[in-house]
Amino acid sequence: MSMEIPYKIYLEEKEMPAQWYNVRADMKNKPAPLLNPGTMKPITLDELTPVFCEELARQELDDTTPYIDIPEEIRNFYKMYRPSPLTRAYCLEKALDTPAHIYYKFEGNNTSGSHKLNSAIAQAYYAKQEGLKGVTTETGAGQWGTALSMACSYFDLDCQVYMVKVSYEQKPFRREVMRTYGAKVTPSPSMDTNVGRKINEEFPGTTGSLGCAISEAVEAATTQDGYRYVLGSVLSQVLLHQSIIGLETKTALDKYGIKADMIIGCAGGGSNLGGLISPFAGEILRGEADYQIIAVEPASCPSLTRGSYRYDFCDTGKVCPLAKMYTLGSGFIPSANHAGGLRYHGMSSVVSQLYEDGYVEARSVGQTDVFQAAQQFAKVEGILPAPESSHAIRVAIDEALKCKQTGEAKNIVFGLTGTGYFDMVAYQKFNDGDMTDYIPTDAEIESSLAKLPTI
Ligand SMILES: *Cc1c(COP(=O)(O)O)cnc(C)c1O
Repeated sequence: MSMEIPYKIYLEEKEMPAQWYNVRADMKNKPAPLLNPGTMKPITLDELTPVFCEELARQELDDTTPYIDIPEEIRNFYKMYRPSPLTRAYCLEKALDTPAHIYYKFEGNNTSGSHKLNSAIAQAYYAKQEGLKGVTTETGAGQWGTALSMACSYFDLDCQVYMVKVSYEQKPFRREVMRTYGAKVTPSPSMDTNVGRKINEEFPGTTGSLGCAISEAVEAATTQDGYRYVLGSVLSQVLLHQSIIGLETKTALDKYGIKADMIIGCAGGGSNLGGLISPFAGEILRGEADYQIIAVEPASCPSLTRGSYRYDFCDTGKVCPLAKMYTLGSGFIPSANHAGGLRYHGMSSVVSQLYEDGYVEARSVGQTDVFQAAQQFAKVEGILPAPESSHAIRVAIDEALKCKQTGEAKNIVFGLTGTGYFDMVAYQKFNDGDMTDYIPTDAEIESSLAKLPTI
């Protein structure tokens, strides 16, 4: 290879993909269908549309169409912050003294600070197309709510966000970004919904949970005319929208004739990882190429590495459809000491099936090790990474150090999903030496799995 690889491989606007890629189309073993929580039968389009926008429900159920056009309005919005650069981590390679070549795809270059905007803008667009007044959602620390509020304000849609009360009170910054974009942010559990009032009555003074906020957001969507519920990860439609990450990555690598050996991503609900790996997994599935794909999850919330591949509820309130996925049980709550995000109890059914079939491997990492990697990366690459993203950094560094032992010049590509500016409380814990690594015991996981629905 004679072409010198620049620090940043930029794509031109016209090289941005015009279609999303639906990896399900190339999977021989399709992800298992979503089940209706009322009947426990595969859910139909008609049953999904009272809760979800119709076009999004269609995308959710479509496991045969490989390429789906990205509407021009969405492409125009993407152009404000995409294509995102693929960076060659020359400085990190030097610091590690590794023969490996490390590349990262950075998705934090927009005000919401993460990849979530890629799907938020698509979901807001389809809601607007359908003539809806607005959408409802839940948010934990606020990344998804922030992305959605930006997307809704662009299309002049009302945006109602139920934010877990403890985050609403303790993390004012993302909350204020959301309000600046015009979203209505309500601490959950609230007194606005039946489910919120019930939870407040049962558990006075509760600081809320993601599962409870989901139940409130779903109730708010189904009881207001012209509203639907939207979700920021886990669902196959979200993974489809996030395929833009992988498609751009592939185009950038191809431009310089680089063949990735290893692709690494952090896995919360699995949408960013699924989107990053989609075109590569497609090549493996079609027998065209081979890649090592690694999903990285926190040791405190290890759904792939220690969970069970079963049907489970997507939310604690058990109002959403059931998905077959690697799960720790919808009642599983990671330790309060866990500061690094990626706290969802289950994993995208697409990623779960690819993992089950051996196309994806998984690693779990402790949070102190994750923040050490974050700090090392921040010092040499100039980006303060999100704690979530730093799970992928940890494994990329570990793999690069292995290459140092073996002398192999592997091409390692990882997804850098976002910035850590709003996660300084977690960094503070790390800097103060107060960070602990809580790993759930087998007994804790077993007792949570024992409560899975029997299907
Ligand atoms: C939400 C989030 C994640 C987790 O993404 P999933 O697609 O749910 O796995 C990772 N990194 C950042 C920065 C996030 O905001």
